[in-house]
Amino acid sequence: MLKVKFFIWCMLHGKVQTRDKLIQKGILITSICPMCNQVNETMLHLFFHCVWAQELWGDVLYTLGREAPNPTRCVSVEKWLLEWPQLHFSDFGKAVWKVVPYAVIWSIWRARNDKLFRNIDKGSERVRMTILGFI
Ligand SMILES: [Zn+2]
Repeated sequence: MLKVKFFIWCMLHGKVQTRDKLIQKGILITSICPMCNQVNETMLHLFFHCVWAQELWGDVLYTLGREAPNPTRCVSVEKWLLEWPQLHFSDFGKAVWKVVPYAVIWSIWRARNDKLFRNIDKGSERVRMTILGFI
């Protein structure tokens, strides 16, 4: 969990090395998102606006039987985490629910890196199962 917390801290401080940032540094030639191959990869695109990410958020929340804010409306990671809905569960249920956005974000990052650097395309269904095992 420490690794995930550090990653979220990096997101909140704009330090995640998405392709748009690597282009700015002259490291990459293309900034196209590896998950959808349609749009430039920015932090908001990769984790919230990408059709692949939207499908994942939708699948995970559907599986958990809950609704959450629409990821296409996310304007900042901080706002997304702060506005994550509070639910009236048991203490254990609340603890699990609070982990969901962190698990989804971390899993998106891992799936993206697997696809980009290891040529492994897990597909959203397999990533969803990984997330449910994580939480
Ligand atoms: Zn995309």
